[in-house]
Amino acid sequence: MTAIELVRGDITRQSVDAIVNAANSSLLGGGGVDGAIHRRGGPAILEECRKLRAALPHSRLRSSGGTPIGKGLPTGQAVATTAGELDARWVIHTVGPVYSQSEDRSGLLASCYRESLRVADELGARTIAFPAISTGIYGWPIDDGARIAVETVRATHTSVEEARFVLFDERAYEAFAAQLR
Ligand code: ADP
Repeated sequence: MTAIELVRGDITRQSVDAIVNAANSSLLGGGGVDGAIHRRGGPAILEECRKLRAALPHSRLRSSGGTPIGKGLPTGQAVATTAGELDARWVIHTVGPVYSQSEDRSGLLASCYRESLRVADELGARTIAFPAISTGIYGWPIDDGARIAVETVRATHTSVEEARFVLFDERAYEAFAAQLR
């Protein structure tokens, strides 16, 4: 069984085997937690992301602004790179779904957590830190995002011993705490 821990703070300050990044499909960095990870982790992460991206098939996806993104990691999938200067061995980049009121994308959000744990298992990671994927710029309501995160990690068979949710603000922390009660 994976122990679930909650921490209020900055995921780039965590000391764990693997830090999960709420990346975008381009893998070339963005705002929010993605920007913070690349800033603190240094250029080695982006360099590996570029190589991984080059090996991906072209996707027909477009960015939220409508620009074609070319090669991209599909939503719900995960890949690993070095953690650069972060106090971790790997960063696992996963692409969360943009929240939609008209379409149920919760399966894709659950997939982010499941696929990240699968990649962590492949790497041999024992401890992992997750942000609240999709609940920032991608607009997912925090209570529902917390429910999917906790339910999925609880239901996933993995060798990861500790999954730590690192919540940036009090509201997100409370949403996760409510799921664990
Ligand atoms: P997404 O595009 O998947 O919504 P964001 O980075 O915008 O990704 O937000 C995901 C969550 O990460 C939000 O709840 C946001 O508050 C949080 N967040 C932003 N920066 C950090 C950080 N340094 N550490 C942990 N969580 C963060």
